[in-house]
Amino acid sequence: MAGYFHQGKQQHWPQADSVEDFRRNLAAVRERIADACARTGRDPASVRLLPVSKTMPEERIRLAYAAGCRELGENKPQEACRKWEAMADLTDLRWSVIGHLQTNKAKLVARYAAEFQALDSLRVAEALQRRLEAEGRSLDVFVQVNTSGEASKFGLAPAETADFLARLPGFPSLRVRGLMTLAIFSADLERVRACFVTLRELRDQLRGKLPVGISLDELSMGMSGDYEVAIEEGATVVRVGQAIFGARSTPDSYYWPQEVNHSTDEETP
Ligand SMILES: *Cc1c(COP(=O)(O)O)cnc(C)c1O
Repeated sequence: MAGYFHQGKQQHWPQADSVEDFRRNLAAVRERIADACARTGRDPASVRLLPVSKTMPEERIRLAYAAGCRELGENKPQEACRKWEAMADLTDLRWSVIGHLQTNKAKLVARYAAEFQALDSLRVAEALQRRLEAEGRSLDVFVQVNTSGEASKFGLAPAETADFLARLPGFPSLRVRGLMTLAIFSADLERVRACFVTLRELRDQLRGKLPVGISLDELSMGMSGDYEVAIEEGATVVRVGQAIFGARSTPDSYYWPQEVNHSTDEETP
């Protein structure tokens, strides 16, 4: 793909097919992270780059590993589990699940994931807690907030977040690290920015009234098309796939269905 329109910019994300390609793409992203930090007086060390490897085959993931990636984000819990099993030899590689979880997949995530960024229901919190106890593990989690108001996005409404956080001390195997959001898909970067501002302001508002044991140090926001804007607005984690691996052929609608049926969604096998 030569280039296409994404979040306001004509983008060209070069394919990475060798360790050198990955090194080049990673260096380019890190440089833009450093520039965004410089513009806002932030320390680049305060921004964690989470490379996102969804849809990418094992051989390309191994190249990314050889280029230095030690953690990877995956949207689908089953795809992540398959990859974790196939690459169990890479013992220092951490897997972060960044997409919606159905309760019947909690068992998988409790086995292999180091982090889960899309917590948005007590049912999922309960399922994870039970499975994590059985595994003798704990899990870093981010609470996903829907900052765009789009029905197609998962996540809690900002106004529901305080009550939700108040319940989380009841799930001691979940270590709450912060909030996560996906911005609106829009060519208008100011509308995208408004989503990031909403998440930061929500975090600042909640900070004063958090339950004991819960802190919100992290803000996971920003993807290939908008991570610089997210950093300007306070992101501490950016989830970047295409700018590192190259453009994906799978359309984003596969990951963000047009209609999210929240009522039947837990029953799918
Ligand atoms: C795919 C994905 C990303 C990364 O998107 P890119 O356009 O590849 O940078 C970030 N967050 C989530 C939740 C994703 O599913």
